[in-house]
Amino acid sequence: MYYRILCAADLTEGSRRIVKKAWELANQFDAKLYLIHTVEPIPAYGYPGVTLIESPHIDEAKKHLKTLAEDFLIPEEQTSVVVGLPKTEILKKAKELKIDLIVVGSHGRHGISRLLGSTANAVLHSSECDVVTVRYKS
Ligand code: AMP
Repeated sequence: MYYRILCAADLTEGSRRIVKKAWELANQFDAKLYLIHTVEPIPAYGYPGVTLIESPHIDEAKKHLKTLAEDFLIPEEQTSVVVGLPKTEILKKAKELKIDLIVVGSHGRHGISRLLGSTANAVLHSSECDVVTVRYKS
């Protein structure tokens, strides 16, 4: 049984399919489904070590995630947009929410066709709970 599922959505075109799979699993196990999206800080040009967090970027991500959550009837309080590295933030949120299953796409923005993306790989190797990787359609 899984009781609390966390789905990581990178908000690329393929991420709806990942959320749908997570939603199906949540229904099957009668589990609570959480969504997370991470906005990565952008290195500031010309200022070594300085990063910028663009708030329009965060607002856009929040809007996008809200729409995705509404489509699957996921309450807003079960969604979060955080700033940081995806792998770090996904694992942190999983611990915080006592998640017992993480759902990620096999690849997203960083994945080369048929290779496991860097985030999926990192989550798989460091997670303390079970992880399902959902294959992207090529
Ligand atoms: P990637 O490592 O970018 O190929 O992505 C693999 C998977 O990790 C994606 O399908 C998502 O499930 C998750 N992921 C990657 N980037 C993010 C992000 N910024 N926010 C949330 N999840 C992400």
